Amino acid sequence: MSASVAPRLPSIDGLLRHPACLPLADRYGRESLLASLRQLLDELRSSVLNGQLSAVEISPDVLAGRVGERLAQQQRSHVRRVFNLTGTVLHTNLGRALLPDEAIDAVQMAARYPLNLEFDLASGKRGDRDDLIEGLIRELTGAEAVTVVNNNAAAVLLTLNSLGARKEGIISRGELIEIGGAFRIPDIMARAGVRLHEVGTTNRTHARDYEAAISPRSGLIMRVHASNYSIEGFTARVPTAELAELAHRHGLPLLEDLGSGSLLDLTRWGLPAEPTVRQALLDGADIVTFSGDKLLGGPQAGLIVGRKELIAKIKKNPLKRALRVDKLTLAALEAVLGLYRDPDRLAERLPSLRLLTRPQADIFAQAERLQPALAQVIGEPWTVSAVKALGMIGSGSQPVARLPSAALCLRPQVSKRLRGRCLLNLEAALRGLPIPVLGRIDDDALWLDLRQLDDEPAWLAQLPQLQVES
Ligand SMILES: *Cc1c(COP(=O)(O)O)cnc(C)c1O
Repeated sequence: MSASVAPRLPSIDGLLRHPACLPLADRYGRESLLASLRQLLDELRSSVLNGQLSAVEISPDVLAGRVGERLAQQQRSHVRRVFNLTGTVLHTNLGRALLPDEAIDAVQMAARYPLNLEFDLASGKRGDRDDLIEGLIRELTGAEAVTVVNNNAAAVLLTLNSLGARKEGIISRGELIEIGGAFRIPDIMARAGVRLHEVGTTNRTHARDYEAAISPRSGLIMRVHASNYSIEGFTARVPTAELAELAHRHGLPLLEDLGSGSLLDLTRWGLPAEPTVRQALLDGADIVTFSGDKLLGGPQAGLIVGRKELIAKIKKNPLKRALRVDKLTLAALEAVLGLYRDPDRLAERLPSLRLLTRPQADIFAQAERLQPALAQVIGEPWTVSAVKALGMIGSGSQPVARLPSAALCLRPQVSKRLRGRCLLNLEAALRGLPIPVLGRIDDDALWLDLRQLDDEPAWLAQLPQLQVES
């Protein structure tokens, strides 16, 4: 281990002044460059002492190159755009609804400038952030009042806690659901301080079941839209109007958690029927809660709408402050709600509705158009075909309904034993592209559902970089 034989690492000072490092200091800052250089030299030191590295391997140019790669990697955002070709439109893990330009502009404005978030410009006095969208919500749903929180889970928690703490919440056993990510109605009730009083059975609950449960301990009746599963066959459910009448006869409020809910009847666009907020209120629900980023097509938010005095009570709860919505969300929400005033053009202007209503023929034509390019890039042992496929709305809306769609179907022509590995390698390669492409594996094939492939040029441009391990 003689210093005269083994090449020596350059000094930090020398490297910092080296022409190959100067642009890195400009780009990433001196501190970051220094930290990266130190780390790299520390890692190399023992190999250098043992004579395992050549002079070239530790030349300033090579070291600068390695540090440059590390800095670029560190600077790369962890929030990445992806292509959602899973076939699920409102995909919770991929950010649900995409915002329309009107909302993006509103978010930019709210991010860039001070705004009247809680300031009444007419009177010059302190305002309330909910007032910014109250008029629109009243117009679109018929509700007397509204308050907005961070998401629908928060809306349910806050409503239960405000109206039913230390009392019993009566709910059908068929509605004690779990929604992805550990949101379970019984747990939320417990956390809200409401004692669960379950009635009926999983498949059948009658008015007399609710009636029998009502006592002086009762605080509210709750109804939850079973959004992510469906019960079929021998079932019975009390219609909302009848349940509301029963609740009111006993002086109890009826809460309805619609989950997705919709502001308009979706069947006008050929989509499966989803209960509307307006109808739930007309039927007599006193409070209705729903998400901003499911079928509504807006930002993540939880909307609580309904009777004025109940909303006032909810707004007074200190939890409201902890769960409140931020200015960027409110700006986006107002812009999205504004589009609902012109339903005739909504399917053109609201991305989620535009994607949900894209005709199958259109998607299939796109699949046929893109098939040759993908087949050429991917080569052996794959067959690529344009096929009709079925997608989903997602986010718990209409779990059994399927959207007629089309996909590129990639099938490995290898023995059954190798197929699984082959598909996983392809899936990983697609995920490794600059804009990761996410599909789904099903029936020994990888499916790229094209319903949501808007940006075809960007998708095609990166295809040549696809490298599948065999
Ligand atoms: C999705 C959903 C929720 C939770 O809404 P988030 O906006 O995701 O918090 C609550 N209840 C029902 C019925 C749902 O479908």
